[in-house]
Amino acid sequence: MDPYKSLKEEAYEANIEIPRRNLAIYTWGNVSAFDPDRAVFAIKPSGVSYENLSVETMVIVDMAGAPVDSKLKPSSDTETHRVLYRDFPGIRGITHTHSVYAVAWAQARRPVPVYGTTHADHGAEEIPCTPIMSEEAVQRNYELETGNLIVETFRSQKKDPAAMPMVLVAGHGPFAWGSTPAQSVYHAAVLEEVCKMAHLTLALKPDAEPLPPHIIRKHWERKHGKNAYYGQR
Ligand SMILES: [Zn+2]
Repeated sequence: MDPYKSLKEEAYEANIEIPRRNLAIYTWGNVSAFDPDRAVFAIKPSGVSYENLSVETMVIVDMAGAPVDSKLKPSSDTETHRVLYRDFPGIRGITHTHSVYAVAWAQARRPVPVYGTTHADHGAEEIPCTPIMSEEAVQRNYELETGNLIVETFRSQKKDPAAMPMVLVAGHGPFAWGSTPAQSVYHAAVLEEVCKMAHLTLALKPDAEPLPPHIIRKHWERKHGKNAYYGQR
C-alpha cells in the first residue's frame, strides 16, 4: 500500500482540472498537493501530457527538494512550489498555468486593478505582478528564484497570501494557491477570467477606473468577512 496514495490522488484530480478548465494545452501547467504533517508534496511529473497522467505517476518530493519514491522526474517548476510552501504557511495546493489572458498581463508586466466585483469577490486589492528576474538570479537557480521573487513581491507590498491567493510572474505567467489543491486550480481559473475581463474593460475604455473602495469592501466582506452571508451556511 502506497503511504502517499491519498496525496497523489488529490494532486492527480487537481492536475486534470487544468485541461478541463482550458487553463493550459500540452504540458503547460502543473498542480501540487502539500502534506504539512509529513513535509512532502505530490506534483505532476515533468513533460507528461494530461491524458497520460495517472495517480501513480504523481511524484512525491520532500521539503529539501528531493524526490521521495519515484522513477519519474518531478515538474521542472518543483522548486518554485517548494519555496511557496516553505514561506506561505497555511497553503496546501499550488497551481501554475500558462492561461492566455493571465500570461498577457504578466508579459505586459502589469498588476491587475480591481475593475469589478468578480475580482473583488476573490481579492480586495490589485493582483500583484512581480518585477522581471535579474540575470544573476536566473543563473543561480531559475525555478527557486521564481519562488523567491513571488515571496519578495508579497513582502515588499505587504500582501497577505491568504487574502490574495494569486500572482503574475513578469514575462512568465500566473501562480495561484489555496487551502486545498482543488482550491488552487479554482483560483487559477478565477485569475484567468479576471484578467480577461480586465483586458476587455480596457479595450472598451482605456482609462476605465477601478471599482470604488466601498463596493470592493462590500463584495469582499460578504464572502470573506466575519459577517459573511454569501452561499449556504
Ligand atoms: Zn511556466
